[in-house]
Amino acid sequence: MKNVCKECQRPLQGRSDKKFCDDYCRVSYHSKSNRDNLEVVRQINKILKKNRQILQECLQKYGNSIPRKYLEWNSFKFQYYTHLMTYSKKETIKYCYDLGIAEISQSEIKIFRDQCSIYPINQEVSNPSLTV
Ligand SMILES: [Zn+2]
Repeated sequence: MKNVCKECQRPLQGRSDKKFCDDYCRVSYHSKSNRDNLEVVRQINKILKKNRQILQECLQKYGNSIPRKYLEWNSFKFQYYTHLMTYSKKETIKYCYDLGIAEISQSEIKIFRDQCSIYPINQEVSNPSLTV
């Protein structure tokens, strides 16, 4: 089987380890794959920003303790978050940028504001203050 160019699919001449016919095809191929990667990043950022916006709105409307269903009604995506912080053996806050949630029970959520500016990243926070 003859090797073909990864960009234009034309048969390749010369060395057997060649992947592209020329620089044009090589550059074109790599910029396309960068574009695809950026698109994935963009999609995930969109979900994270939407999550943050939902938290911001809930915080303004209902305060920092809310029923889980409020987030579900707004299509909050629980599996998407930017970072985690643990403040006791079992409680973990999942952040979307600066706003995060702790699932207090199956039906109750508490909203926190990140304290990156106060606590160094990765340091265990012993007693995070609730946002008001
Ligand atoms: Zn080519």
